[in-house]
Amino acid sequence: MDCLFCKIIDKQIPAEIVYEDDLVLAFKDISPQAPFHALVIPKKHIATLNDIAEEDRAVVGHMVIVAGKIANEQGFAEAGYRTVFNCNQDGGQTVYHIHLHVLGGKAMGWPPY
Ligand code: C5P
Repeated sequence: MDCLFCKIIDKQIPAEIVYEDDLVLAFKDISPQAPFHALVIPKKHIATLNDIAEEDRAVVGHMVIVAGKIANEQGFAEAGYRTVFNCNQDGGQTVYHIHLHVLGGKAMGWPPY
């Protein structure tokens, strides 16, 4: 399968990994939108949020838990941070392997646009 994030999981493409276990990988975003910006991805290929199945409940929940662990480790959990799933074109998704953005280290605005 020609998926950029699957290649990062397989270590065919280098990435700055911040967390890895059997279910997920987290790595620094190549184009950070905050002082800290990482992506948490499932090792299972799931193209979009619309493709999440009941059987993916555990891995998707784990992605959120890992985002919190990363925020703690990076020291911005108390100050606050942003997590984002973009879905399809209007959501701004550009890589079709689900990923949870974890952004921290600055105060962020809302709404996004
Ligand atoms: O949510 P969206 O699909 O737009 O996010 C994709 C993210 O993947 C972008 O933030 C982009 O910078 C990141 N990316 C990356 N490494 C790559 C290609 C894209 O971190 N090689």
